[in-house]
Amino acid sequence: MTDQINDLLNTAPCGFLSFIDDGTIVMVNTTLLELLGYEADGLRGQKIESILPIASRIFYQTHFFPILKLHGKAEEIYFSLRSKQGNNIPILVNAVRRENAGSFINHCIFIPIHQRIQYEDELLQAKKVAEAAIRAQKQAEIALRQQYEQAILLRDITQRINQALDLANIFENAAQKIRELIHADRVGIFQFCVAGDYKDGEFVSESVLQGFNSNLRVRIHDHCFDEKYVKYYQQGRIQALDDIENAGLTECHRITLAQLQIRANLIVPLLSSENNLWGFLCIHQCSAPRHWQEIEIEFIKQIAIQLTIAIQQADLFQKRQQAEARLRQSNEDLSLATSLLEKLVNIDGLTQIANRRCFDNRLQQEWQRLYREQQPLSLLLFDVDYFKRYNDSYGHQMGDHCLIELAQAVQQVVCRSTDLVARYGGEEFVIILPNTDVEGAIAIAQRIHAAIQALAIPHQASEVSDTVTVSLGITSQIPTSETFPANLIAQADQALYHAKQHGRNQSVILC
Ligand code: GH3
Ligand code: MG
Ligand code: MG
Repeated sequence: MTDQINDLLNTAPCGFLSFIDDGTIVMVNTTLLELLGYEADGLRGQKIESILPIASRIFYQTHFFPILKLHGKAEEIYFSLRSKQGNNIPILVNAVRRENAGSFINHCIFIPIHQRIQYEDELLQAKKVAEAAIRAQKQAEIALRQQYEQAILLRDITQRINQALDLANIFENAAQKIRELIHADRVGIFQFCVAGDYKDGEFVSESVLQGFNSNLRVRIHDHCFDEKYVKYYQQGRIQALDDIENAGLTECHRITLAQLQIRANLIVPLLSSENNLWGFLCIHQCSAPRHWQEIEIEFIKQIAIQLTIAIQQADLFQKRQQAEARLRQSNEDLSLATSLLEKLVNIDGLTQIANRRCFDNRLQQEWQRLYREQQPLSLLLFDVDYFKRYNDSYGHQMGDHCLIELAQAVQQVVCRSTDLVARYGGEEFVIILPNTDVEGAIAIAQRIHAAIQALAIPHQASEVSDTVTVSLGITSQIPTSETFPANLIAQADQALYHAKQHGRNQSVILC
């Protein structure tokens, strides 16, 4: 039995060691002796410090042994043993303290932990690999998110363009969103001031991070801009400068950029509807150099394509509007001319009242209408008395003037919008009175005589009055299918003839 226990003690996969309080080793098993490279009995009687490296020796004195004394045991303490060859061997120790006949003995089990360190290394390595994988995944997620946001912005800008919002609005929105998305210090839309002049321009829209200068609406004269590049920009060339201080720029160009507080510069051309260089979409880093990523450049190019479409659309829109305005103007001119012409063909040049043509048309219309409605239509025809003599006495010019005065006075007498006073010819006038019976017509005739009398135009040569008078024929009828407007005129003429016959300056009714 004792042999078996000894065998177990000596061949167990851990070291056993007992020492008394002064540190003298009283028992060591073979496993530990072999671990430390000692012969059998090579350690018995030695001090425990002899197998401790200097650091463990201090730890033994200040921590390990006091703990053991205090608690009667010490568990899972980590320290190193020193082999005979002087190597440090990491071990884990468990110890108990036993009293034996008034003195104490301390038993220790040592478990070498080479393997554990190797495992820990492997674990650490595995953890690092896992962390790197997580980081890579996070970066991929960020890149994906950035791509997603870029796609959203592109869609947003495209939509705005399709909704034909004004250019200023599209630019402002694009500049702000691009700046936020790619974390630039400043984004601007640069436009050349006059088409074809590539030395002068200005930023017409801009989004700038707080703390940096605004270049908005600042007139920029770049006298060193080489126009040979225009052709390349028209073909889609872009310029991506990570650091203007180290880009090999001409001194003149570098100074222009530095004055605008530009350190890193990404510019993409914008083209007009004739495919001329309109300006640039400019991304600036003001604070420090910046390496423009391929994906960022690609994204800005896509946006520039959309902005170019917007510029071209706005240009076409403006041209269309101008063409429409011109068309509207000429249409207005035309309709004005037409209505003027219409007026002219219907108006008597001397008296400015309706002419014969107007009268003929209106009579025809009213005749038909009143035939349908079976309502009366009255006609008054009047002629100036002794007008030949008036001309002879006062001159033709005075005669004209007299006719104008008469026409205007008679015009005032009729009041319904459907009534029409017209010059029938020479010194004869006619009045259409729709929906008016003979009594109504007589009343109007009386008012005409009164109005002309009130004018009191002197007429010494007249045989019926010392002022101008008229003779008037009245007729009225409800149109029938057997009669025509011409009948009405003939009847009025007949009535007028009777008025003249009966002594002038009077009205005669003939129905
Ligand atoms: P009566 O009383 O019978 O109608 O005599 P009258 O002299 O008025 O008739 P007549 O038909 O003999 O003469 C009409 C005159 O009116 C002749 C013409 O010179 C004149 N007259 C016609 N049209 C105009 C015009 O536009 N201006 C002027 N000043 N005179 C005109
Ligand atoms: Mg006459
Ligand atoms: Mg007359």
